[in-house]
Amino acid sequence: MSRARVGKHVGPYAPIVGRGFITASIAAGRYRLTEPLGLEKLCTGCGDYWPADTEFFYAKRDDLAGLSSLCKACYRERNTARKRTADGVEMA
Ligand SMILES: [Zn+2]
Repeated sequence: MSRARVGKHVGPYAPIVGRGFITASIAAGRYRLTEPLGLEKLCTGCGDYWPADTEFFYAKRDDLAGLSSLCKACYRERNTARKRTADGVEMA
């Protein structure tokens, strides 16, 4: 009786760099997985989830996921809001 056990199931594995980071980020609520869009990232500005790609977020090298924490719309809004407050217009 020398049957070796090969019952260690690893399951499907996607060799994506930073997979552990994404899993941890989903647990922390910063990302979520949706169908059929895939990975979405939480914008800290508007509190909405947007597709985690450079169409919605600016690329940011010092971020682990490589994306800015603000979506492009918030990023632009924040920049124009600064100019607006200088003119005395209320910030949203
Ligand atoms: Zn936003």
